[in-house]
Amino acid sequence: MDYGHIAPVYQDARRTGDGLVTPVVPDRPARVQVEQLRKLQQVEHAGEFNIWYGKYMGESSYEKAARASTRVCLETDAGLTRADYTSNTNYICLHFARGCCVYGKDCTFRHCAPTEEDESSADAPHDIFGRDRHGSFRDDMGGVGTWTKDCKTLYVGRMCARPSEEAMTEILVRHMGEFGRIESCRVLRGKGCGFVTYHLRATAEFAKEAMAEQTLDHDEQINVRWAYDDPNPRAQAVRLRNSAQQMLAAMEAKGHLSSGAAAYPEDFPTPDEADEADEPGAAGSAEYEAAAGGASVAKRARVSEPVPMTREPTAPDEHPFGFPFPPYACQLDFMRSLYQCLDDGGIGVFESPTGTGKSLSLVCGALRWLQDQQRREERLLEEKLAASEADAEDWVDNWYTDMKLSRLQRRSSALAEKRELAQVVGEVRKTAYAKQLGVVSLGSRKALCTNEAVRGAPGGAERVNELCLDLQSKAAKAKRATGKGNEGAAADRTTREGDRGLGGDGGGAGCPLHRPRDAANKEARQAVTDSALLAPRDVEELGALGRREGCCAYYAARDALPDAQLVLLPYASLLHAGTRESLGLSLRRSVVIVDEAHNLIDTINDTHSVTLTARQLSEVSAQLAQYAEKYHARLKPTNRLCVQQLLQVVRALRAALQPAAAGAPRVGGGGGSGEVTERIVRLNEFLSALRVDHLNLFDLTAFCEGSQIARKLRGFADAELDELGRLLLSLAASVPDGIVVFLPSFGYEEQVGGALLLSIVGGKMSEGINFSDGLGRCVVMVGLPFANPSELTLQERWAHLDATHGVGAGREYYTNLCLKAVNQSIGRAIRHIGDYATIVLADSRFGKASIRQRLPQWIGSQLRTAVSHQQALSAIESFFGGRAAEQRSIEARRRARARGEEL
Ligand code: SF4
Repeated sequence: MDYGHIAPVYQDARRTGDGLVTPVVPDRPARVQVEQLRKLQQVEHAGEFNIWYGKYMGESSYEKAARASTRVCLETDAGLTRADYTSNTNYICLHFARGCCVYGKDCTFRHCAPTEEDESSADAPHDIFGRDRHGSFRDDMGGVGTWTKDCKTLYVGRMCARPSEEAMTEILVRHMGEFGRIESCRVLRGKGCGFVTYHLRATAEFAKEAMAEQTLDHDEQINVRWAYDDPNPRAQAVRLRNSAQQMLAAMEAKGHLSSGAAAYPEDFPTPDEADEADEPGAAGSAEYEAAAGGASVAKRARVSEPVPMTREPTAPDEHPFGFPFPPYACQLDFMRSLYQCLDDGGIGVFESPTGTGKSLSLVCGALRWLQDQQRREERLLEEKLAASEADAEDWVDNWYTDMKLSRLQRRSSALAEKRELAQVVGEVRKTAYAKQLGVVSLGSRKALCTNEAVRGAPGGAERVNELCLDLQSKAAKAKRATGKGNEGAAADRTTREGDRGLGGDGGGAGCPLHRPRDAANKEARQAVTDSALLAPRDVEELGALGRREGCCAYYAARDALPDAQLVLLPYASLLHAGTRESLGLSLRRSVVIVDEAHNLIDTINDTHSVTLTARQLSEVSAQLAQYAEKYHARLKPTNRLCVQQLLQVVRALRAALQPAAAGAPRVGGGGGSGEVTERIVRLNEFLSALRVDHLNLFDLTAFCEGSQIARKLRGFADAELDELGRLLLSLAASVPDGIVVFLPSFGYEEQVGGALLLSIVGGKMSEGINFSDGLGRCVVMVGLPFANPSELTLQERWAHLDATHGVGAGREYYTNLCLKAVNQSIGRAIRHIGDYATIVLADSRFGKASIRQRLPQWIGSQLRTAVSHQQALSAIESFFGGRAAEQRSIEARRRARARGEEL
């Protein structure tokens, strides 16, 4: 039953060829509907949303809602408003729909009923009135509705049930049909309600507002809400099909689809054939029959062929695009358009709502093109072969060139975020291409590393990369050193020591899971590479394969690259030229597919952004200064200059993060009271504020990349730690009882770790706790714990002392502060007259007179300076050797005390 002819529409309605009525806006100013603005009942977005009750504050429930006092009459009220001239908005006036707009022609929203055009150009997050749609329907099915369902059916409750069912239907259609074409109407007389399905969702939205709390013919107050989904499978299928078609129409209207212009594969059915094949059965107009459930539903379901809720899989190769199921119309169009785009060699942007199977369409469309392209190239090659019979030499040359091109052409790089790689692999597995093409998932080292010691190292992906590369370079160094006599043996020994912590087996060949010269390891790696190419696998599966075979899955996946036709990798690996290069991934003659491309901007931003903390900069600054000092004589003048300039930039950056420090350049614009401010500044402005604008940052960047200073600094810091570690180990072997080690900062403590009692100068262990007798026989003071010179209070005191006691008094105070902390810490071990301990001051600056004279006199007088660890250890051993007898008597007294004997 077509209700279109019943719908009375206003004066200037237009009748189209197929008999549909399309209302157009009458060419006259819109009428002012009421003189005073009235309160709208049940209007959304008018107050705060109460998540407990699922409604807006002040909104009445439908039982209590007052009867509508105004009603729109399209025939007299509709007309042109400001919105028709300014095109600022396409939304319709909600007050107009409720019959109470006070602005008339001056309204900035449109005054008309929705049209097909409104429907196709609508944006999913907003309804026809511009209100935000929700993620799901409200519990009472009232309000704006949801963007996740294309509901066009309204429930009309509290109807007067006195008339017959036919009369009720006629009344409902007459009233509800004023706003646009009705597809179907079903009345349930016994329940006093009806369901009206509109041709357009926009019309349903308009009608819902226009008829809210209105009366029909019997002075009732109707209740209009969204209807639940029709549970009838036939209705479900029709709904899905219609929504897909509308989605396509909307995309076409927005110019996102090239319609009908696709050049299909030769064996592809024409659009008409495809449509016929895709026809799920006659689309009934009474699909809402089942609204009330019960007998009529069961009856209909038996009479007609049920429409399956899930699609049956097709046999491989059955579908021209290798699609595993009969595709929906939108999927088909997606694949056709993608195919055409690739054939044209263009760049395509494809948009499809969530849940429409776009990843699968993407995979099938692209891989189908890839296969066709391969066939075309093979045909071309055969033709050349036939044509070149006369000239064999030329043919050999051409053949070689073409084979190279063909190999490159076969690669298609699909790209997804790491967490989505597995999902894409899952989609590829469903297709007919799974067994025909080589697919490789190229994860990061962090994802694919099979060396547990490296993979589990704290510090994220960057750290895993560094550790892995360190292992490789150590292996390379060890190899170079082999055959260099004693020196080589020493290098090999160093490598073995370095490897031990990272799962090395002491063989001196870097990572034990990646030994390119080891036949067994090579074989295992080849097995993983072959398995990776045999069937699509995600990174998790590749990692598991690597662990099972006992080889590196990361390098095995890289080995598979040259033979892979589909490479799946995270955005960052594709977008970063250096990473691509290190992977050996060339994009020449490749198809690049970016899935979920809306994440692209964020990824690009992340790739080119870095967060620096003051602490990191302080550490870099300290390491760089030590590095410059240590290698001062060995650095070339140009490199020495670059290191100094780098140091200047790092210090300036650190100062910028602490603008409160006196005299520091204030880039953030904050005041001197330490408040945190945020500001975006241009690079030049920033550099000028830091007072480093005279430096050429491009040269410095080139120096950093070329000299690999970052890696050298890390190695330098590690070497220092190694040295300290060796010292502590030796001390532990020489000192008979406990050792307390004080470190200059928490950052240092994190680097050192270990089982000794590590404490911080100025921390809880440095005051009030005694390590007398056997609790502490050795105190090690690592470095000089100078306070942060950019601290505001320190700066003020320093300045005050300089001003009142002469220049230099501030520095004196600063040094004394440091030494006071040292003295407090080293005094923890010797607590009574019979107590003894060694104090190791592990910093060459303690040898300076200026520092030495600030130590307690009883310590300063006994201070011995050792020029090497060995010398220090000998002195310590001889000290404890001289105390051996005393130590034995102490032990005897301790044991006697434990037995309760009287001494
Ligand atoms: S070679 Fe492979 S297994 Fe070894 S550390 Fe590097 S990524 Fe990990």
